[in-house]
Amino acid sequence: MKGEKREIFNSASVGPDKCTFCKIAKGEFPSYTVFEDETYIAFLDINPFSKGHTLVCPKAHGETVWDMKEAEIGGLFLLAARISRAVVEATGAEGFRLLQNNGEAANQIVSHVHVHVIPVMMSHKGKPMDRIRLEGKEMEDTSAAIRKALARD
Ligand code: 5GP
Ligand code: ZN
Repeated sequence: MKGEKREIFNSASVGPDKCTFCKIAKGEFPSYTVFEDETYIAFLDINPFSKGHTLVCPKAHGETVWDMKEAEIGGLFLLAARISRAVVEATGAEGFRLLQNNGEAANQIVSHVHVHVIPVMMSHKGKPMDRIRLEGKEMEDTSAAIRKALARD
Protein backbone atom coordinates (compact mmCIF):
# COMPACT_ATOMS: atom_id res chain seq x y z
CA MET A 1 0.00 0.00 0.00
CA LYS A 2 1.21 3.51 -0.76
CA GLY A 3 3.50 4.95 1.92
CA GLU A 4 3.65 1.68 3.84
CA LYS A 5 7.25 0.45 4.22
CA ARG A 6 7.57 -3.32 4.04
CA GLU A 7 10.74 -5.38 4.00
CA ILE A 8 11.56 -8.16 1.58
CA PHE A 9 13.49 -10.94 3.36
CA ASN A 10 16.90 -12.02 2.12
CA SER A 11 19.37 -13.83 4.39
CA ALA A 12 22.10 -12.99 1.82
CA SER A 13 21.54 -9.26 2.31
CA VAL A 14 24.74 -7.17 2.32
CA GLY A 15 25.38 -3.43 2.40
CA PRO A 16 27.16 -1.49 -0.37
CA ASP A 17 30.60 -2.04 1.24
CA LYS A 18 30.37 -5.84 0.75
CA CYS A 19 28.24 -5.86 -2.41
CA THR A 20 29.75 -7.54 -5.52
CA PHE A 21 27.70 -5.48 -7.98
CA CYS A 22 28.68 -2.21 -6.21
CA LYS A 23 32.31 -3.31 -6.62
CA ILE A 24 31.70 -4.03 -10.33
CA ALA A 25 29.96 -0.64 -10.72
CA LYS A 26 32.96 1.10 -9.13
CA GLY A 27 35.44 -0.83 -11.30
CA GLU A 28 36.91 -2.55 -8.24
CA PHE A 29 35.84 -5.99 -9.46
CA PRO A 30 36.22 -7.24 -13.07
CA SER A 31 33.30 -7.84 -15.40
CA TYR A 32 32.55 -8.23 -19.10
CA THR A 33 30.83 -4.85 -19.33
CA VAL A 34 28.55 -4.16 -22.29
CA PHE A 35 27.17 -0.75 -21.28
CA GLU A 36 27.93 1.95 -18.73
CA ASP A 37 26.76 5.49 -18.04
CA GLU A 38 26.54 7.62 -14.87
CA THR A 39 23.50 5.79 -13.53
CA TYR A 40 23.52 2.24 -14.90
CA ILE A 41 25.93 -0.57 -15.78
CA ALA A 42 25.32 -3.80 -17.72
CA PHE A 43 27.64 -6.81 -17.84
CA LEU A 44 27.60 -10.50 -18.68
CA ASP A 45 26.36 -12.91 -16.03
CA ILE A 46 29.36 -14.95 -14.85
CA ASN A 47 27.28 -18.13 -14.63
CA PRO A 48 24.85 -17.66 -17.51
CA PHE A 49 21.69 -19.47 -18.59
CA SER A 50 22.68 -18.84 -22.22
CA LYS A 51 25.39 -17.11 -24.24
CA GLY A 52 24.79 -13.36 -23.93
CA HIS A 53 22.95 -13.54 -20.58
CA THR A 54 23.36 -9.96 -19.35
CA LEU A 55 22.62 -8.22 -16.05
CA VAL A 56 21.49 -4.59 -16.06
CA CYS A 57 21.93 -2.68 -12.76
CA PRO A 58 21.59 0.75 -11.28
CA LYS A 59 25.03 1.80 -10.01
CA ALA A 60 23.53 3.02 -6.74
CA HIS A 61 23.07 0.26 -4.19
CA GLY A 62 19.51 -0.82 -3.52
CA GLU A 63 18.36 -4.33 -2.80
CA THR A 64 14.99 -4.49 -4.52
CA VAL A 65 13.01 -2.21 -6.83
CA TRP A 66 11.29 -0.87 -3.69
CA ASP A 67 14.62 0.77 -2.77
CA MET A 68 14.73 2.68 -6.07
CA LYS A 69 13.24 5.97 -7.21
CA GLU A 70 10.35 5.44 -9.63
CA ALA A 71 12.12 7.25 -12.48
CA GLU A 72 15.17 5.01 -12.01
CA ILE A 73 13.02 1.88 -12.11
CA GLY A 74 11.58 3.11 -15.41
CA GLY A 75 15.08 3.90 -16.70
CA LEU A 76 16.36 0.48 -15.67
CA PHE A 77 13.66 -1.40 -17.59
CA LEU A 78 13.95 0.90 -20.62
CA LEU A 79 17.68 0.21 -20.70
CA ALA A 80 17.10 -3.54 -20.30
CA ALA A 81 14.71 -3.42 -23.28
CA ARG A 82 17.29 -1.50 -25.32
CA ILE A 83 20.06 -3.91 -24.36
CA SER A 84 17.85 -6.88 -25.25
CA ARG A 85 17.89 -5.78 -28.91
CA ALA A 86 21.70 -5.76 -28.94
CA VAL A 87 21.89 -9.09 -27.08
CA VAL A 88 19.52 -10.75 -29.58
CA GLU A 89 21.40 -9.27 -32.53
CA ALA A 90 24.79 -10.33 -31.15
CA THR A 91 23.75 -13.88 -30.30
CA GLY A 92 21.27 -14.67 -33.07
CA ALA A 93 18.69 -15.53 -30.41
CA GLU A 94 15.08 -16.17 -31.37
CA GLY A 95 13.58 -14.65 -28.22
CA PHE A 96 14.60 -13.28 -24.84
CA ARG A 97 13.52 -13.16 -21.22
CA LEU A 98 13.56 -10.11 -18.95
CA LEU A 99 13.69 -11.37 -15.37
CA GLN A 100 14.01 -9.47 -12.11
CA ASN A 101 14.08 -11.20 -8.70
CA ASN A 102 13.23 -9.48 -5.42
CA GLY A 103 13.97 -11.35 -2.19
CA GLU A 104 15.22 -14.79 -1.24
CA ALA A 105 11.81 -16.34 -1.92
CA ALA A 106 12.22 -15.17 -5.52
CA ASN A 107 15.72 -16.77 -5.73
CA GLN A 108 17.51 -13.43 -5.51
CA ILE A 109 21.16 -14.34 -4.88
CA VAL A 110 22.83 -10.95 -5.28
CA SER A 111 21.20 -8.31 -3.08
CA HIS A 112 21.70 -5.43 -5.53
CA VAL A 113 18.84 -4.72 -7.95
CA HIS A 114 19.41 -6.14 -11.43
CA VAL A 115 17.40 -7.13 -14.48
CA HIS A 116 18.41 -10.29 -16.33
CA VAL A 117 18.34 -10.21 -20.13
CA ILE A 118 18.40 -13.87 -21.18
CA PRO A 119 18.50 -14.68 -24.91
CA VAL A 120 16.71 -17.90 -25.87
CA MET A 121 16.40 -20.17 -28.89
CA MET A 122 13.42 -22.23 -30.05
CA SER A 123 15.30 -25.25 -28.62
CA HIS A 124 14.72 -23.73 -25.13
CA LYS A 125 10.94 -23.67 -25.59
CA GLY A 126 9.08 -25.50 -22.85
CA LYS A 127 12.25 -26.63 -21.03
CA PRO A 128 13.81 -25.46 -17.76
CA MET A 129 17.12 -23.70 -18.47
CA ASP A 130 20.41 -24.94 -17.00
CA ARG A 131 23.43 -22.77 -16.32
CA ILE A 132 26.17 -23.06 -18.94
CA ARG A 133 29.91 -22.48 -18.71
CA LEU A 134 31.62 -20.17 -21.20
CA GLU A 135 35.38 -19.75 -21.53
CA GLY A 136 36.93 -16.30 -21.06
CA LYS A 137 37.48 -15.85 -24.80
CA GLU A 138 33.81 -16.59 -25.53
CA MET A 139 32.70 -14.14 -22.80
CA GLU A 140 35.05 -11.50 -24.24
CA ASP A 141 33.85 -12.05 -27.82
CA THR A 142 30.19 -12.05 -26.76
CA SER A 143 30.50 -8.84 -24.75
CA ALA A 144 32.36 -7.19 -27.66
CA ALA A 145 29.58 -8.22 -30.07
CA ILE A 146 26.90 -6.79 -27.73
CA ARG A 147 28.84 -3.53 -27.34
CA LYS A 148 29.13 -3.29 -31.14
CA ALA A 149 25.40 -3.93 -31.62
CA LEU A 150 24.58 -1.30 -28.99
CA ALA A 151 26.79 1.25 -30.72
CA ARG A 152 24.76 0.67 -33.94
CA ASP A 153 21.41 0.96 -32.13
P1 5GP B 1 19.65 -13.29 -8.94
O1 5GP B 1 19.28 -14.72 -8.68
O2 5GP B 1 20.14 -12.58 -7.70
O3 5GP B 1 18.55 -12.56 -9.66
O4 5GP B 1 20.85 -13.37 -9.97
C1 5GP B 1 22.16 -13.03 -9.68
C2 5GP B 1 23.01 -13.39 -10.87
O5 5GP B 1 24.30 -12.83 -10.68
C3 5GP B 1 23.21 -14.89 -11.07
O6 5GP B 1 22.70 -15.29 -12.34
C4 5GP B 1 24.72 -15.10 -10.95
O7 5GP B 1 25.22 -16.03 -11.88
C5 5GP B 1 25.27 -13.70 -11.19
N1 5GP B 1 26.50 -13.39 -10.48
C6 5GP B 1 26.81 -13.69 -9.17
N2 5GP B 1 28.02 -13.21 -8.86
C7 5GP B 1 28.50 -12.59 -9.97
C8 5GP B 1 29.73 -11.90 -10.26
O8 5GP B 1 30.62 -11.77 -9.42
N3 5GP B 1 29.87 -11.40 -11.51
C9 5GP B 1 28.90 -11.55 -12.48
N4 5GP B 1 29.14 -11.02 -13.68
N5 5GP B 1 27.73 -12.19 -12.24
C10 5GP B 1 27.54 -12.71 -11.00
ZN1 ZN C 1 25.33 -3.00 -4.33
